[in-house]
Amino acid sequence: MTHDTTTLAHGRRSLLKKIGAGGTGLALSAAAAAAAPRLPAPSAIDTGSVQNGKVVFPAWRGEADAPSAPTPAPLPPEQRVGYAIVGLGRLALEEILPAFGESGQARPVALVSGSPEKMATVAKQYGIKPESCYSYADFDKLRDNPEVKAVYIVLPNGMHREYVERAAAAGKHVLCEKPLATSSADARAMIAACDRAGVQLMVAYRIHYQPHNRRVRQFVQEKTFGRLVGYTAVNTQTTALNAAEQWRHKKALAGGGSLPDIGLYCLNTARFITGQEPVEVYAHVFSPPGDARYAEVEETVNFSLRFPSGLVVQCLASYGAREDKWQRFELETASIDMPSAYEYQGQRLLIGQRQGDTKGQTELTLPPKNQFAAELDHFAECVTRNRKSDTPGEEGLRDHLLMEAIYRSAATGQPVKMKPA
Ligand code: NAD
Repeated sequence: MTHDTTTLAHGRRSLLKKIGAGGTGLALSAAAAAAAPRLPAPSAIDTGSVQNGKVVFPAWRGEADAPSAPTPAPLPPEQRVGYAIVGLGRLALEEILPAFGESGQARPVALVSGSPEKMATVAKQYGIKPESCYSYADFDKLRDNPEVKAVYIVLPNGMHREYVERAAAAGKHVLCEKPLATSSADARAMIAACDRAGVQLMVAYRIHYQPHNRRVRQFVQEKTFGRLVGYTAVNTQTTALNAAEQWRHKKALAGGGSLPDIGLYCLNTARFITGQEPVEVYAHVFSPPGDARYAEVEETVNFSLRFPSGLVVQCLASYGAREDKWQRFELETASIDMPSAYEYQGQRLLIGQRQGDTKGQTELTLPPKNQFAAELDHFAECVTRNRKSDTPGEEGLRDHLLMEAIYRSAATGQPVKMKPA
């Protein structure tokens, strides 16, 4: 397409004239302003106000409508807690790094990877300085990077202990992916290392920061629908036939199969939602014979958790069934379905109740919130305010003790009693 420059110049002059800029523009604009109808000034309900550093708007919708969510109040970038991300695998690239865009208190400032090409690409994408990119051999140099306040370990489980301990020795607070370790002994050593170094250790149990799961927890603990009588949890997915070489199928790197990887969501969320500790576990594991993927770790685990209240939670985790991540609650006056309880997004909360003379189901709609961003912000706040996280290392240790009991039960065919937490 070609432009006629004379026409463009004329168009610009007439536009400037209309908006009152240049030449006689000021006079024109004053006249135009005088002729314009007077508009009412904005009211306080329109402008809102600043309260405690946050912009707040008064409600303008009627009582029948849900109020809008508060405006976000992100910290200026230089005041946010700087994170080093260790391990640039799928979770780090697909969920964690993008989640910083929705965080208000955290920012990525350093990367650690064994792949220089991948790291240089990711560093450019997220504006991370080349001098803040480290190999695993250089990891300990994080100590000298004052921008790094927290280190987020997103490596295979069998590497968590080494890098948590090295991060603590470098004087950095540590957020570690789940499961915390591959054994309760390693989990204890990691907690001790962080205590000795005077740094915080948090396990990335994202469900604790996910709104739908938090709401169900509130319903259960406040007995909104009476006593919790039954609870079923399922977390299944499938593995490609050629994936036997992946770290998830190697005992030393994974610690186990579907149990520590995805069954842990059923286990940890049951403890979170009920607010109780299991007093007994009973379990069965199964792997298809002769399948190379399950030479070292289990495919499927069924386990039940008996709680002091008498509640028994039934759980199933498997690498052998189509992806399905749900939990269901039976309460005295309602049943609650969460068809995508452990997904990264898309959680739903369906409450079944009697409605007059019929049975009905109501969906509770909660504002969407990125659970990874919520988790990053929670730890940033803990670091800034020097307060212990809601999911500290001890929370991860408890799950390792329970998973070890689950494997013991499966091996012996007997229920295993737990010592008090
Ligand atoms: P991944 O395989 O996609 O990434 C692992 C990264 O570690 C890769 O970049 C790989 O190159 C690197 N690595 C370094 N040394 C390695 C070694 N010896 N063997 C294999 N990889 C090595 O795994 P992922 O799914 O990103 O999982 C990483 C961690 O995050 C695990 O602890 C996992 O349990 C956890 N995770 C958590 C969630 C969640 O929702 N919170 C979801 C997925 C994974």
